[in-house]
Amino acid sequence: MPSEANSLTFIIVGGSIAGLASAYTLSKAGHRVTVLEKSSAPYDHHSGSVHSPPNMTRILKEWGLKQWLDEVGVKADGVVFRKGDTGEKIGVLVYHPQIMEALRADYVFVPYRSLWSTLYDMAVKAGASVRFGANVERLNPDLPSVFTSGGGELKADFVIGADGRESVTRGFVVDQAPRGVVDTLCGFTLTVPTLSLKADPDLAFLTDRPDWNLWLGDRSCIHGYLSMGRQEYILNLILKSSDQRFRQNWQDRFPPSELNLDLSGYDTRVRKLVGLAEAITPTKYCHYAALSNLLHDSGKVFLVGEAAHTLPPNYNQNAALCIEDAVTLGALMSRAKAKDVAFSLASAFEDIRQLRSAQVSHSEHSRYEMVTLPLGTEKQKLRDESFRAALPRALRGWEDADEEYLREVWEEYIALFNYDAYEAVEDWWTKWGSFL
Ligand SMILES: Cc1cc2nc3c(=O)[nH]c(=O)nc-3n(C[C@H](O)[C@H](O)[C@H](O)COP(=O)(O)OP(=O)(O)OC[C@H]3O[C@@H](n4cnc5c(N)ncnc54)[C@H](O)[C@@H]3O)c2cc1C
Repeated sequence: MPSEANSLTFIIVGGSIAGLASAYTLSKAGHRVTVLEKSSAPYDHHSGSVHSPPNMTRILKEWGLKQWLDEVGVKADGVVFRKGDTGEKIGVLVYHPQIMEALRADYVFVPYRSLWSTLYDMAVKAGASVRFGANVERLNPDLPSVFTSGGGELKADFVIGADGRESVTRGFVVDQAPRGVVDTLCGFTLTVPTLSLKADPDLAFLTDRPDWNLWLGDRSCIHGYLSMGRQEYILNLILKSSDQRFRQNWQDRFPPSELNLDLSGYDTRVRKLVGLAEAITPTKYCHYAALSNLLHDSGKVFLVGEAAHTLPPNYNQNAALCIEDAVTLGALMSRAKAKDVAFSLASAFEDIRQLRSAQVSHSEHSRYEMVTLPLGTEKQKLRDESFRAALPRALRGWEDADEEYLREVWEEYIALFNYDAYEAVEDWWTKWGSFL
């Protein structure tokens, strides 16, 4: 850890998962951190849940959050792939306890609001200051400094852009920041109290087990799971939409009747479930090409979270990449004994995270494509046939498991889930640390 005299100042633009987690790790590493968040007050709306795959859950446990995870999270037993129109189970991926134990963490669904307030409390307790109503309009990346809407200028040793999909910071870091290309599919999030499902004989089955259900539709899909200590059922609809009212944010809420969602190809039970929601949050999805760099030429401004690597909304690794970014940042900057060393460490951050996010992004996008195939295509038929053929083997208990099948299915997941962000920094340090 740097001495007080060597501690650095950081401004973080954006106070959501990436911003607050980074504020926590950097403060713990002995640096002075100010988070600037454009929302006028702490986040207290009700929204959906984020996925915490094992690579993220392991970190949260290391941060002392096991009890919190047990209280508000719901551990998924596995994924159930269903035909969209009938709900028929055609495939499963079982999260065998033996595999999850080897990974030292579970796949957990955690409510966004609770994760936000937990990270906020941790960041503030570690010494970070969080300012609300601070909208950053532009940057001077060479100094570096940021200019907020009120006209104020704030300077620091480093500026970190954690300002999400429509990042302002990105435009100052990357020479030709890619313009987002709007996807034909849009994400919709809704939450229904589990009690309402239990009261309905058609829907009660969804509350029996903590399965992650995935209904495969025609160039669309719907996934659902229990969250908030099993008190809520979350549905994420990935549906075609060209509605101009939708934005890339998570704050808008519409009554279902105002959205004209086309659920005609879906099981009546799913439609019933959607009908139970009081409000639905649409999140427009834009594809951004991978960025050429995450660090400005000055070495003083860089990007984390969805500003650095955007993934389809409500996907598996969105929050996990943010938490890994924060760990990498904190672990590197805890070694910053002087400012010039910190520049090299910022550059190491870029190397380590670009490699990892490329791997995750590739896997996430191919999975997104796989679950939203158009019906009637060869690919879709092959997908469904393979699910069906593998179903008997997938349902076998651990004792009778087919090793070849497990290897085939789990190889890619293990690469994703077993990533250790602390270890990645250790490896980098072992290789390059002595040169600093
Ligand atoms: C309010 C909210 C609710 C969400 N709910 C869900 C959910 O239910 N399910 C889910 O899967 N994902 C949800 N997400 C998205 C989830 O947080 C992201 O997918 C990801 O995990 C975290 O990304 P991030 O922290 O990089 O960016 P984001 O979560 O997008 O946060 C970016 C932050 O930067 C702030 N910001 C943007 N521009 C500026 C600026 N110029 N100046 C200052 N601040 C700025 C924004 O207000 C926001 O707080 C939500 C995000 C938000 C902001």
